[in-house]
Amino acid sequence: MESITKKAYGKINLSLDVTGRREDGYHLVRMIMQTVGIYDTLTICRQEEEGIRLFVDNSDIPAGEDNLAFRAAKVMQERYGIRDGLSIRLEKRIPVAAGMAGGSTDAAAVLRGLRDMFVPEVTDEELQKLALPMGADIPYCITGGTQLSEGIGEILTPLPKAPQCSLLVIKPDLFVSTGWVYKEFDGIPEEEVRHPDVDAMCEAIRKDDLNGMAKLCGNVLEQKTGAAYPVIGQIERFMEERGALKAMMTGSGPTVFGIFEDAEKAEAAYREALSRDDLSGSQTFLTEFV
Ligand code: ATP
Repeated sequence: MESITKKAYGKINLSLDVTGRREDGYHLVRMIMQTVGIYDTLTICRQEEEGIRLFVDNSDIPAGEDNLAFRAAKVMQERYGIRDGLSIRLEKRIPVAAGMAGGSTDAAAVLRGLRDMFVPEVTDEELQKLALPMGADIPYCITGGTQLSEGIGEILTPLPKAPQCSLLVIKPDLFVSTGWVYKEFDGIPEEEVRHPDVDAMCEAIRKDDLNGMAKLCGNVLEQKTGAAYPVIGQIERFMEERGALKAMMTGSGPTVFGIFEDAEKAEAAYREALSRDDLSGSQTFLTEFV
């Protein structure tokens, strides 16, 4: 195989709880991850020249060794003795630094792509073990879908696909540092943390109960982030006033998603969001679960 093209899908967190912290500083999480239909495209080709060349169509992210796609390629070369030179083209569509695991899913796509090209006998589980030191969300991104993610992200339990719905996704035009979000979270006294009921949401998903699932959405990281960035709450209200069963921040933000049972309402809200001055500069998508 001379080249391969992979779609790298973004995710949202239908539920995100932080249950503790390991001695090495990693947060212990319980999250329900869901792949959505917003994706980057990675094309990997063999090249004559040794080493790895990465071409990115987005100047907001690094094009060299700091890019997770590049690091994933290097890890694969080293682990499986791949000597061929590689050129990787990354077409970026997932909003950057958005809580949608954009870098992680690109890395996962490179791992899967190089596995398929050079070492097809390698299993997803093996790739997941290889991926964890590069990033806690990468093991999930290898397989995607609807999954309960625990530990630091390495304990994965597949769930049935979440109930069908329309999804409006808006990334406001602001940068929120993931490190800052976790630091702020660590400062909240335990008795004030509003933990979501992750187990109840697993049950709602197993019963294919969209309304039950929407009611149970919760993200502990939103308590402080939402207060610091009022636009997050404004977008949530915008979505819920237009018929979303629930609107919430994903990951460490600042992206907000709205779950709509009624596809026409979602479409109308999408069109309105695109035309509103107060949302100009936002990245707006109408999509669904994948
Ligand atoms: P998560 O949901 O896993 O916390 P995120 O969606 O918040 O991730 P990313 O889009 O992965 O965040 O970007 C975080 C930072 O990672 C960016 O600011 C960028 O500098 C760096 N980065 C490295 N590789 C990539 C990549 N392939 N795509 C996007 N960002 C990347």
